[in-house]
Amino acid sequence: MTVEVRVVRETAAGERRVAAVPETVKKLMAAGAAVQVEAGAGAAAGFTDQAYLDAGASIVAPATPVAGGLVLCVQCPPAAALAGYPAGTVLVGSLHPQADAARAQALTAAGVVAFPLERLPRTTRAQAMDVLSSQAAMTGYKAVLIAAELTPRFFPMLTTAAGTIRPSRVLIVGAGVAGLQAVATAKRLGAQVEGFDVRPETREQIESLGGRFLDLGVSAVGEGGYARALTEDERAEQQRRLAEHLKGVDTIVCTAAVPGRPAPKIITAAMVAGMKPGSVIVDLAAETGGNCELTQPGQTITSANGVTLAGPLNLASMGAVHASEMFARNVYNFVVLFLKDGALSFDWEDELLARTRWQADAAA
Ligand code: NAD
Repeated sequence: MTVEVRVVRETAAGERRVAAVPETVKKLMAAGAAVQVEAGAGAAAGFTDQAYLDAGASIVAPATPVAGGLVLCVQCPPAAALAGYPAGTVLVGSLHPQADAARAQALTAAGVVAFPLERLPRTTRAQAMDVLSSQAAMTGYKAVLIAAELTPRFFPMLTTAAGTIRPSRVLIVGAGVAGLQAVATAKRLGAQVEGFDVRPETREQIESLGGRFLDLGVSAVGEGGYARALTEDERAEQQRRLAEHLKGVDTIVCTAAVPGRPAPKIITAAMVAGMKPGSVIVDLAAETGGNCELTQPGQTITSANGVTLAGPLNLASMGAVHASEMFARNVYNFVVLFLKDGALSFDWEDELLARTRWQADAAA
């Protein structure tokens, strides 16, 4: 038996990643799949059609109809493409059906078996499949590089014949996977790094990377160890302590998020007004509205007092080679839960499959 696996060429604007790389194509074939890669699917991430051919895949034109089996993508394919999939086709990727009603409707209408990987439970067993973590690592890294590019200062301390330069003071807001990678990256660039989060265990994590934990006196752990939204009083306390502190900070990288909710607003317009001219804020939370009140998703603007605010989107795509390699390994590790000896077979008792599958009527 042989299952057909289609690797789609992404069509979303600015998307440079690909859901399978030659290394994972070989492994999929060893599991009994016949892999078809849409021509040019890996080009923006540096993986040529020839490299896929060498790995044993066949190359098909992007418009070639999907004949069922398994489809691998980074972002959800457009409704018109989904409509062409035979019912029962299995779709794996960062599908985010809950973010877009029309997309959810298109997935349901197509009758696909949809596995949005962002729904995976964050258990130890699922770590090797965790696209949120693997892509956040790239995102946190790139955000700091953008900040270093935008700032009119050095990050490291320099001792020169023209005098000593003080290191930049960099504050990382939120210390999940992206935030911790941002702490590590800013530290490697020689900045003086601080970070805070509302989960108390992040103190040790920030300190282990050489950063200083900024204690704002608020602890807010919710379900499953994630942060919960702050109460009005907690938010006021966090903002009171932060406002004073920000006057001495040169660069802020915002990464705070609460699952399933818009990004918490942490940096107010008044705080930005109190910052030094030439300060920089890179707001990774821009995709879900931003941690800063002034963030314009997808744009870089300058405030009236000369603070640069960047709200970059899809930063993982900026590091498309490694982001794709990690994403593709995550996808492969998930797919082999149900791809065995060339056949698709689902054990719905397996919580990774049962909890990740999305169905409109049962969506949590
Ligand atoms: P995330 O992207 O959802 O959020 C980023 C960070 O923002 C979190 O650390 C959160 O605590 C913080 N935050 C939320 N509101 C805040 C506020 N008002 N002020 C300051 N910080 C705020 O997080 P993530 O990177 O996806 O991961 C966070 C959680 O997931 C952690 O508990 C982590 O240990 C867990 N995790 C588990 C696994 C696993 O075991 N497989 C893998 C990755 C992450």
